[in-house]
Amino acid sequence: MGPMGIFGGTFDPIHFGHLRTAFEMLQALRFGEVRFMPCGSPPHRGTPVADAALRLRMVRVATEGQHGFVVDDRELQREGPSYSVDTLTALRSEYPLTPLALMIGMDAFLGLPKWYHWREILQLSHIVVAHRPGWRAPDMGPLGELLADRGTHRIGDLHQARSGHIYIHDVTQLEISSTEIRELVAAGRDPRFLMPDSVRAVIEESRCYGPTGGEASTPARNGDGDDVGDEAIRLKTS
Ligand code: ATP
Repeated sequence: MGPMGIFGGTFDPIHFGHLRTAFEMLQALRFGEVRFMPCGSPPHRGTPVADAALRLRMVRVATEGQHGFVVDDRELQREGPSYSVDTLTALRSEYPLTPLALMIGMDAFLGLPKWYHWREILQLSHIVVAHRPGWRAPDMGPLGELLADRGTHRIGDLHQARSGHIYIHDVTQLEISSTEIRELVAAGRDPRFLMPDSVRAVIEESRCYGPTGGEASTPARNGDGDDVGDEAIRLKTS
């Protein structure tokens, strides 16, 4: 079996930016599977707006029927913050021989040095970074050094070793973010074509992002928690 891709996120809600990235990586990098792993209590940001059960339900309906897409709710079962290093340690002991590949967007990669025990991650898995609109790879600082040391352009390295490489992959750039979707829904607009209709139906039914959902209406959280490192470079804002 090919490497196991692990795609963690708040998925508040899941959208086509996530799904297309996961699908392209599954195919291009010849992963055996992509495991969607919604996080319970994200350590780097504020509390999610939709509750855990609802976010899990949206991930399930979004991925249903796609061969190779698997949903893993272990981070939602665990008490306390969801640290990637703990999840990867558990997966490594369950799958001792399978290459693991932590999949993250470039924005998340730039915040890596703030993650709990981040240097241990590469002992447990590879890191596969998806280019995201407006962000570019660091060439200086701890991440620039890490890329010089561990970066690879060979997909084969992700199959031959079980951990330790960083691979940056170009994916179709879809400038969609969960924050923007929540704001749009809260403003009474329709999120159609930004996500599968099955996810949109859950949002409509639950009113989890407002605008008439009472307490569940979206609090202003624009950019509150994406705590990126000093070398984060936002290239464009418009
Ligand atoms: P928010 O707007 O609430 O910060 P988000 O859209 O960034 O949410 P997350 O659930 O935080 O979604 O993201 C999970 C992972 O998916 C992260 O690694 C993130 O970089 C990546 N990701 C999110 N949106 C995209 C996108 N449009 N294209 C590629 N990767 C993405």
